[in-house]
Amino acid sequence: MSKVLIDPGHGGIDDGATGFGIKEKDRNLVMAKAIARELRLQGVQAVLTREDDKSILLADRIALEHKEKPDCFISCHMDAAAETASGMTIWVHSKADNVIWNWALDVMNELKAVGFTTNRAQSVSRGYPGSPSSDYYVNRETVSPSMLIEFGFITNQNNLNEHIEHCTEYAKAVAKAVCRFIGVEYKEANSDGDGKSNCAACCRTCPKVEKFQQGMDAERTRADQAEAKLQYLKDYLNR
Ligand SMILES: [Zn+2]
Repeated sequence: MSKVLIDPGHGGIDDGATGFGIKEKDRNLVMAKAIARELRLQGVQAVLTREDDKSILLADRIALEHKEKPDCFISCHMDAAAETASGMTIWVHSKADNVIWNWALDVMNELKAVGFTTNRAQSVSRGYPGSPSSDYYVNRETVSPSMLIEFGFITNQNNLNEHIEHCTEYAKAVAKAVCRFIGVEYKEANSDGDGKSNCAACCRTCPKVEKFQQGMDAERTRADQAEAKLQYLKDYLNR
């Protein structure tokens, strides 16, 4: 049976980045669990480095990878920067061969097909930000083919909203490309049992996500009102 190890970045005392009151560690766990669910629906064994909000050393994540010997390893993260920065990035080892590079391109293409806000051209990269010859710990120390996915910027309102709203679709996109990579035929499954449940619904039970969503709704209302005001002025002037 094929096996994939999924690593929700950070956890416990390590929040990772924060945006709009939401912690990266929590979003990473939601995304990792969604990917695991999609892979299990395809008959792939999915193992997580953490199942809940607990601290876990990078070395322990790698020790688990050595023990489990998965077919591939995926670390889930979110970026942080100025509010204007947006887009997803996949990081592979600085010396990743073409097989891994093409796998990363395939994952990115599937993610792009779902759609996300981006202001960056580069989407798949080797090495480490600003240092192509160094590597993320999880890409450097893993034995299996690995990648680290930055599922958008938690500091960008659109990306965070997309992470919440389209979590299941992104997870499916990753699962599709992973199945192709490990030679498992991907079948459109009837999704999550009830065919309807998605991350957006379960995330809304989190008060912080609810607050963020309310903020987004308020912003849309403000934009609508501004538009209506402008239209009123235009109509007035054209009278
Ligand atoms: Zn992170």
